[in-house]
Amino acid sequence: MLRHLLGASATADSMLEAIVRDARETGGKTGRPVFSDAVMEAMRTVPRAAFVPEMEKPFAYENRPLPIGHGQTISQPFVVALMAELLDVEPGARILEVGTGCGYQTAVLCALGATVYSVEVIELLATTAAARLEALGYGQATARAGDGHAGWPEEAPFDGIIVTAAATSVPPALVAQLKPGGCLVIPVGRVAKTQHLQRIEKRVDGSSEAKTVLPVAFVPLTRGQA
Ligand code: SAH
Repeated sequence: MLRHLLGASATADSMLEAIVRDARETGGKTGRPVFSDAVMEAMRTVPRAAFVPEMEKPFAYENRPLPIGHGQTISQPFVVALMAELLDVEPGARILEVGTGCGYQTAVLCALGATVYSVEVIELLATTAAARLEALGYGQATARAGDGHAGWPEEAPFDGIIVTAAATSVPPALVAQLKPGGCLVIPVGRVAKTQHLQRIEKRVDGSSEAKTVLPVAFVPLTRGQA
């Protein structure tokens, strides 16, 4: 009973069911009421328990964010799946991620066949995530410490860019590092105020078009010194 109250009964299967339900309920806004088989398969194969601290493991498959230390969180599984879905990742795609955190979203993108370049402002999180991703066999991921506002110019351009912390405005360097036809998925807004997930498509002529997808709650994209 206590186990149940604490949510310790959530399993990988119940997490997938919760994602399917949330996708259906938000489909009117997101335009994606059913996620692709590839995204659902990636969510099924990546072991979320391997990305959370020991004391959070009983809750690893709850459909909610969890603390990972340093005042940061592992994102809600539904939001991880939604962002992967909105990126329309093709196998072999080169993806830039800003906000590695524990590396869970990175692993989901790898499971979709992407090569992922991930930037994390907290150095210890970056090195821990890099080691974890390597140990779990996600060799197509490279994580480094740095301020993601600058993107990763040496590896640009990217087929897709995902930002997993809330920016007050869209960093111009990220749009610049996107291939024409590519898309940027980013929460925009202030912390403790309404943030909106945006999907920004860069057109072949270099102009871009932003669509607001869903209200969300992310930790802030900080201006780091890393
Ligand atoms: N992608 C993670 C979520 C990480 S939470 C997941 O799969 O669960 C957001 C992360 O963004 C935090 O680790 C935070 O330290 C990082 N972050 C905040 N500002 C940043 C910046 N300017 N550049 C890079 N990372 C940043």
